[in-house]
Amino acid sequence: MADAVVVGSGPNGLAAAVILARAGLDVEVYEAADHIGGGSRTADVTLPGFHHDLCAGAHPMAAASPFFRAFDLEAHGVELLAPQVSYAHPLDGGRAGLAWRDLDNTVEGLGRDGRSWRQLFGPLVRRWEDTVELAMSDFRHVPTGLNGRPHLDPVNAVRFGLRALEQSTPVWNMRFREDFAPAMLTGIATHAIVPPRAIPAAGAALLLGTLAHVRGWIIPKGGSQAIVDALAADLKEHGGRIFTGHRVDSIDEFDNVRTVLLDIAPAEFQRIAADRLPARYDRALGRFRYGGAACKVDFALSGPVPWRALGCDRAGTLHVIGDRAETVAAEKAVAAGQHPDRPYIIAVQPGVVDPSRAPAGKHTLYTYCHVPNGSTRDMTEAITAQIERFAPGFRDLILARNVRTAATLPAYNANYIGGDISAGAMTFRQTFLRPAAQWNPYRTPLPGVYLCSAATPPGPGVHGMNGYYAARHALRREFAVRTDPFDLLARDQTERAR
Ligand SMILES: Cc1cc2nc3c(=O)[nH]c(=O)nc-3n(C[C@H](O)[C@H](O)[C@H](O)COP(=O)(O)OP(=O)(O)OC[C@H]3O[C@@H](n4cnc5c(N)ncnc54)[C@H](O)[C@@H]3O)c2cc1C
Repeated sequence: MADAVVVGSGPNGLAAAVILARAGLDVEVYEAADHIGGGSRTADVTLPGFHHDLCAGAHPMAAASPFFRAFDLEAHGVELLAPQVSYAHPLDGGRAGLAWRDLDNTVEGLGRDGRSWRQLFGPLVRRWEDTVELAMSDFRHVPTGLNGRPHLDPVNAVRFGLRALEQSTPVWNMRFREDFAPAMLTGIATHAIVPPRAIPAAGAALLLGTLAHVRGWIIPKGGSQAIVDALAADLKEHGGRIFTGHRVDSIDEFDNVRTVLLDIAPAEFQRIAADRLPARYDRALGRFRYGGAACKVDFALSGPVPWRALGCDRAGTLHVIGDRAETVAAEKAVAAGQHPDRPYIIAVQPGVVDPSRAPAGKHTLYTYCHVPNGSTRDMTEAITAQIERFAPGFRDLILARNVRTAATLPAYNANYIGGDISAGAMTFRQTFLRPAAQWNPYRTPLPGVYLCSAATPPGPGVHGMNGYYAARHALRREFAVRTDPFDLLARDQTERAR
């Protein structure tokens, strides 16, 4: 019998499994799907030879998160490719706001608003490690530095907090005079799928905006699958075993295992733990809200997208919607349960840095738009028309497409309830009290059982931090291992180097 079982092989499940295995435990991972990876998978879903990222497509967080920096993806053979433009925001009239990886280039391109952009992001960029540690903390303790010791730069923390407050009040726009910067800021805030002026959206905008000018919005060579494959290989190297095609239907399956880490949504936990959860905790999980969802459309194209605005052809990611007012209107409609005719679209064009994604001369385009939770609507036409608006001729390049509506996403991954790609709405309350109001969000009332999915702090994204925190708690509590996981990861790197 294994010492530890992990249910779910998403980035957080595998991050936890790697840490537990490196601590010397015998670890098994059980995955419902036939393939590992959860929200970090790549597959040929349109035509042979066109490799599409099924969920996560751009990786500012994987490139910068403390867990992945300690793990060192590149040392594990993952090529992290950085587009020159991290994200672009096309506007009508053939114009676009461009977030170059280089902050100076961005400032220059923003004209009269360049100075304000530098004032907003410059200090956070300079102290980016502190910015990341803070935004990816468990929101309860002083963050842990890569040396395994608590570390907080109070000046940067206050700076981040004040900027988040500013972005969430009516004064947010006082810095800017033109339309590029407000559109760009709103575009990144909207990743959180809550109103752009909510505090979690402001936090997301500051984190993602900072990372755009540091390591970049990375695209892994070959696809997001490379990230989870690297974790799985490391796990196996340390004696771990992975079983795919095994959906766990009852936690009783692991009654004799000392610790179980669940990379699953709270609703799935309720399903598999059925009558074993104390009524109070069960009710708290029942109150956890699932929110904004996505309709994902992947395109196989005969050529690159013909963006009208200069610079968009160098961008890995684009926010396709128009100006700030249009973004706000589209998201308001989604929150009210409607499908906007002109939706907010996140598009990723991996071919900008990774020609291996499609046959020679051809391209893939990754898109999704926000829709109401549980939506069955196929948004292909709305997405196509919106892209055509900023890239005339796009429609003629389409060779094939693959659509997954919000309603079909849970069949792919049970964590995406109603198509909620964040494993729980990122409201103010649920950003900090995720999934329930308790000091240790990873611990559950069942002895030895921990949650490690994106439904715990610091929330969604391919960064592995939820897995890191849950594994750290499990190691301390169940096995009296007090070594910080970052030390376990670093020790292994040193052994590798020898
Ligand atoms: C359309 C979309 C686009 C996204 N874009 C980005 C992006 O560009 N960048 C980014 O950083 N993040 C993005 N994300 C978010 C990111 O993918 C997730 O936040 C991240 O994958 C969460 O990791 P996780 O390990 O918590 O869970 P998941 O990756 O969701 O993995 C959970 C795993 O658990 C398995 N599972 C669930 N229930 C059971 C069970 N009962 N038994 C066995 N196995 C089970 C599932 O099959 C799944 O493999 C996107 C997500 C989606 C859906």
